[in-house]
Amino acid sequence: MEEKSQVNLKEQRDRRKRINRMKKGLISFIGIWMFVCMLLCVILMVKVSSLEKKVALLVSDETITKQVDEKVAGGNEGLSYNSTEAMKSTDEQVVMNIAGVINDTENLAGENDELKVYLTFDDGPSDNTAAILDTLAKYNVKATFFVVGKQDDESKAMYQRIVNEGHTLGMHSYSHKYSVIYDSLDAFETDFNEIQSYLYDVTGRECRLYRFPGGSSNQVSNTDMTEFIKFLNEEQVTYFDWNVSSGDATSQAYTADELVNNVMSDVVKYKTSVVLMHDSNTKGTTVEALGPMIEALQGMGAQILPIDDNTTLVQHVKAENVE
Ligand code: ZN
Repeated sequence: MEEKSQVNLKEQRDRRKRINRMKKGLISFIGIWMFVCMLLCVILMVKVSSLEKKVALLVSDETITKQVDEKVAGGNEGLSYNSTEAMKSTDEQVVMNIAGVINDTENLAGENDELKVYLTFDDGPSDNTAAILDTLAKYNVKATFFVVGKQDDESKAMYQRIVNEGHTLGMHSYSHKYSVIYDSLDAFETDFNEIQSYLYDVTGRECRLYRFPGGSSNQVSNTDMTEFIKFLNEEQVTYFDWNVSSGDATSQAYTADELVNNVMSDVVKYKTSVVLMHDSNTKGTTVEALGPMIEALQGMGAQILPIDDNTTLVQHVKAENVE
């Protein structure tokens, strides 16, 4: 009897040991598994954030944010951008120097001033350009297109359509590659001549209107921007920046309604508003926002016009101050 119970006891002890071993094994397995998962998560997060930065750099150029706009409106607030959204959004290196716009007190709208609004589209032509032109035609509104150089037939047709339908055609560099065009005055000149003569070949018009990729105040240029401004002055080419941003350049995904609201809340501040938008391939929301935006602008009695020789200059760095 005693022998049997001892055998039983031993079996029970062995079984407990086995169960304990299994428990320990299971716990270590779960522990390792959780560790691997966490490690994977961290790696993924790092990857995503680096990819996001790359995408933002590729997609964007002009960056101005609502906060910066508010500083423009505030007028005398300090120009510290380090904490603004501008640093975080699209092109982190493109930081606005908006002193020129702030100092432009003459452009601030009084109560009874008539508001002039210039809608501008950068980075096209693209698959979205036709839809933008259709909407403008529907409302019989003229705008301004700052285009880049594209050789395909579809793009050529778009340059021509912009001109034919009475919009203003402006240049936005041929290559739109900051590192190339802003590398030296020579490089800028080469790119400038390329886009100007290309647009002349395609449309028969000599273009005398320019928008710097990133704006005249961009902080990414390897060369002092005044070098390029001097060059444009000599060429008698006028450049325009912007004082109202739809926000479609930022990595923040605004809805169409938000793009409209961004514009509407700012155009009331200026007698002349130059609105920054984009008609590149990724800007479907801009296409969507355009109709409601035009309706809202017309609803408040604003005049929507294409940029011409009489348009009040909106420049971050004033051309007249560069000799
Ligand atoms: Zn651009």
